[in-house]
Amino acid sequence: MAVGHAEVIVIGGGTMGTAAGWALARMGREVIVLEQYEHVHAMGSHGGNTRIIRHAYAEGPDYVPLVLEADNLWQKLEQETGQILLTRTGALDISRIGGTHARSARASAEKHGIEFEWLPGSEVSRRWPVWRFDDEFEACFSPGAGFLKVAPALRAMASEMTRYGGRLRTNERVSSWSADEHGITVSTSAGDYSCERLIVAAGAWNGKLLAGLGLPLEVRRKPVLWFQVDDRDAFAPERFPVFMVQDGGHELYGLPITDDPGLKVGEHTGGDVVSPDTVERKIRPSDVTHAVGPFINAHLNGVRVNVADSSVCMYTVTPDEDFIIDRDPRDDRVIFAAGFSGHGFKFAPVIGQHLAALATDPTTQPYPDFAVARFQAAPA
Ligand SMILES: Cc1cc2nc3c(=O)[nH]c(=O)nc-3n(C[C@H](O)[C@H](O)[C@H](O)COP(=O)(O)OP(=O)(O)OC[C@H]3O[C@@H](n4cnc5c(N)ncnc54)[C@H](O)[C@@H]3O)c2cc1C
Repeated sequence: MAVGHAEVIVIGGGTMGTAAGWALARMGREVIVLEQYEHVHAMGSHGGNTRIIRHAYAEGPDYVPLVLEADNLWQKLEQETGQILLTRTGALDISRIGGTHARSARASAEKHGIEFEWLPGSEVSRRWPVWRFDDEFEACFSPGAGFLKVAPALRAMASEMTRYGGRLRTNERVSSWSADEHGITVSTSAGDYSCERLIVAAGAWNGKLLAGLGLPLEVRRKPVLWFQVDDRDAFAPERFPVFMVQDGGHELYGLPITDDPGLKVGEHTGGDVVSPDTVERKIRPSDVTHAVGPFINAHLNGVRVNVADSSVCMYTVTPDEDFIIDRDPRDDRVIFAAGFSGHGFKFAPVIGQHLAALATDPTTQPYPDFAVARFQAAPA
């Protein structure tokens, strides 16, 4: 006996699942989103309060149209819900000369007409005196960038979804799903659901729920650390742009202080490969001493390497660090969104829209750059 039926069921009410539910409900489609924890939690990939949104996109120029569309959708969501979700601070993408990050950000900006300034390291230190860089470094400053507040953003998408008739079921873990000629069955702790189409957006748990697909996903443990500062005002959004700095094999990012316990600084590179159910959720001394602490000591004034608060988040990384969003090659009624590789949040509204289109319109094609086929061996 099914406990529920919907045209589309979404497994995972995190970043992409909530966005897909919102998009489907907005289109007038019947949707149920199933989430194993509370809606908005710190156990998956959206913990840590804030997320950077950059448009001069160092990860590749092809992401720029997507982030521009996502930015518009975030603004629309703000208007519809009366919430402030996006704060513009500008972004500093910085590399030691010889590194690729800042130059890739500049190349994306040039290709897509994104406003930017190219600055030597000493100019960064002059304009933002909390920074200490010399001309061994170079920076792409893009004023349109900023950050998103995670909980208000996810709650705004969910409230719009429910306003349009979508249903969100929390604290309900999906144990398995199956698809046959009669339809799709999704089994949860509450019973079985049936649906015509399924979207799997289970973040770090995608490897388990999509085991038959053998996706090349690696889950990495990512400590999130907030550090004590001497003067919180010096790191306020009006004075301190979000940043991503590449130096010595590490990439470090950080965001200004709003209502946070301190300055958030994290390492984008590295991270132990873990399982989402057994990941070590306590901070270890090496989480601070490995890269983040030395980076703060080398480049930031007025920040103490004392942890004011911490949490542990997870990246799910693909070999090329691009996403995998596609129909299941075994059954095109099943769509999945996986491998957001530590940079997916900013795109959520546009990914949600794309997932909704893949689920409801057979003529919608997956983005070629995110197709699963790139990881499947060509026939001999
Ligand atoms: C520390 C850190 C910093 C980051 N910084 C940025 C940034 O600055 N900018 C940016 O754009 N991106 C950033 N990211 C990346 C971004 O947050 C992720 O790419 C994005 O949140 C991934 O979304 P998701 O939906 O795949 O995963 P999630 O948001 O984790 O959602 C997956 C959901 O599925 C649920 N689920 C799993 N299994 C089941 C099941 N069996 N039954 C029911 N529910 C299930 C989970 O509980 C979870 O809620 C960062 C990530 C981390 C960890």
